[in-house]
Amino acid sequence: MKQQQMTRLVKSLPKLTHHQRQQLAAALGLLSVRSQTSEVIETSAGAHPTCPHCNSTAVVKNGSANALQRFKCRQCARTFNALTGTPLARLHLRDKWMAHAAALGEGLSLNQVARCLGVAQSTAFRWRHRFLACPKAAQARQLCGIAEADESYFLVSCKGQRGLLRKARRRGGRALAGCKGSEYTPVLMARDRAGATANVILDSNKAASIQAALAPMLPPDTVLCTDGSVTMASAAHAMGIEHQAINVSRAIRVRGPWHVQNVNAYVSRLRTWMRRFKGVATKYLDSYLGWFRMLDRFAPAGPQPAAVLGLAIGK
Ligand SMILES: [Zn+2]
Repeated sequence: MKQQQMTRLVKSLPKLTHHQRQQLAAALGLLSVRSQTSEVIETSAGAHPTCPHCNSTAVVKNGSANALQRFKCRQCARTFNALTGTPLARLHLRDKWMAHAAALGEGLSLNQVARCLGVAQSTAFRWRHRFLACPKAAQARQLCGIAEADESYFLVSCKGQRGLLRKARRRGGRALAGCKGSEYTPVLMARDRAGATANVILDSNKAASIQAALAPMLPPDTVLCTDGSVTMASAAHAMGIEHQAINVSRAIRVRGPWHVQNVNAYVSRLRTWMRRFKGVATKYLDSYLGWFRMLDRFAPAGPQPAAVLGLAIGK
């Protein structure tokens, strides 16, 4: 806008009615959120874009569309923007993404998100899982020094699915039989003393399954601390790494530097946080594990909306 037009616009502001001022303020607020969202998306994508279609770095700017810079690839001649190929591509209502990122950072329930954002619960649900697609895949690939590991069990839940094969339980209730039976999903919880955390959903709680999950993340010089379960000991032995077992059942909790208090505290925080969802469908369990890893990483203040949005597009 030319300066002359701008001056005229500002001079005309006192003529606005109260209602018109409110309308103007809302429109300016929306523009500000829109540009902030675009800025976060483009900053997260980085200064040197790569073509998501062929991975070429020979790209040039090619105008803009939907408030995002568009690029053209010289290799494959296709166009793209910072969202192409990410879980958020083609997701609507971008003006509400920052508010949704804030809600994820606060760990709000679906009901609360739908109410705060003024969207349907089905939309809030779809957005949650699109936003968590990248964080659920992001976890420590390697643990260093002293690593603590434990198995944790989550009740199998078919929440949201029709046609149960077993007798229905109360929401988030208890298994009908056995603490570690088929009604529970075993999850390996591993954390080193620097806070690097990995959670792996296991096929079974047998040593071979634990070993397959642990082996890629433990360098040979790691010391593995566990609560002394036979399966953990057997997995550590098969991997040939030093294993320090703490016999928690005999009330021994710490032996010098050897303990599992970090991983146990983490699991306790995770379980407390998960209670608000009143049971999590097993097929989404990895999303929730990834969500909590993200929250825990930014604790105690929690992640800023810009950080959540950046993680959601996998940058
Ligand atoms: Zn290309």
